[in-house]
Amino acid sequence: MLKAVDIHKRYNQLEVLKGVSLEIQKGEIVSIVGSSGAGKSTLLHILGTLDSSDRGECFLNGQAFHQLRDKRLAAFRNKHIGFVFQFHHLLPEFSALENVCIPGWLAGYRKKDVENEAKRLLDTLGLSHRLENKPHELSGGEQQRVAVARALINKPDIVFADEPTGNLDSHNAKELHDLFLDLRKQFNQTFLIVTHNAQLAEMSDRILRMSDGLIMEN
Ligand code: ADP
Ligand code: ADP
Repeated sequence: MLKAVDIHKRYNQLEVLKGVSLEIQKGEIVSIVGSSGAGKSTLLHILGTLDSSDRGECFLNGQAFHQLRDKRLAAFRNKHIGFVFQFHHLLPEFSALENVCIPGWLAGYRKKDVENEAKRLLDTLGLSHRLENKPHELSGGEQQRVAVARALINKPDIVFADEPTGNLDSHNAKELHDLFLDLRKQFNQTFLIVTHNAQLAEMSDRILRMSDGLIMEN
């Protein structure tokens, strides 16, 4: 489903990625671990089309996306890729329901269909009583679940999560990884997760260890 071949990235003098290759199958939950500065976030951003590589190729379901630019890249990202960040970046002026709907509306799906799907997702995540609340009225765990629903609204091929539990207490962190497992079971959802959370890494199917810009052989 996702394939990356020989990804290189340099920031000025600093060679952050030194030829990273990986492959992820549909329905897999894969964690990336490694010390701070190893290049994990940079890799995730490149695979997630938020940043470009200097060299290398990326494919999602056989489509090469490293060559896409601008509008076509944005449309590709919105349709095929979901993101969950440590700081969820929910829009403060919009309700939970609207936050989840926005990527669907941007993708051009029918307003009512998007709303129904958003309600269904929020219901699955135990948030059906929170549809009209603004982010600041929700707990940290609830906010992160809204962010997960938003990541899933366009039925992405893969969800990238960068330290998704980094801002959660251990109870909410456990709930979030149970949720990922549940979403895999229900929708065969694929996840690539950067995490320092040992429990979250251990529940994944595969752990990739990054060190100094490379993925180590396991
Ligand atoms: P990790 O996620 O493993 O902590 P990062 O990918 O965030 O690693 O960063 C790898 C290295 O690249 C770090 O030394 C970081 O400071 C540097 N870096 C990341 N993004 C940029 C950037 N936009 N400009 C310059 N240096 C960067
Ligand atoms: P994370 O918490 O996901 O590891 P970081 O704090 O490493 O994220 O990076 C946050 C943002 O800042 C990213 O977009 C990254 O590219 C950028 N960044 C990280 N390190 C540097 C750096 N040394 N110089 C410029 N930008 C950086």
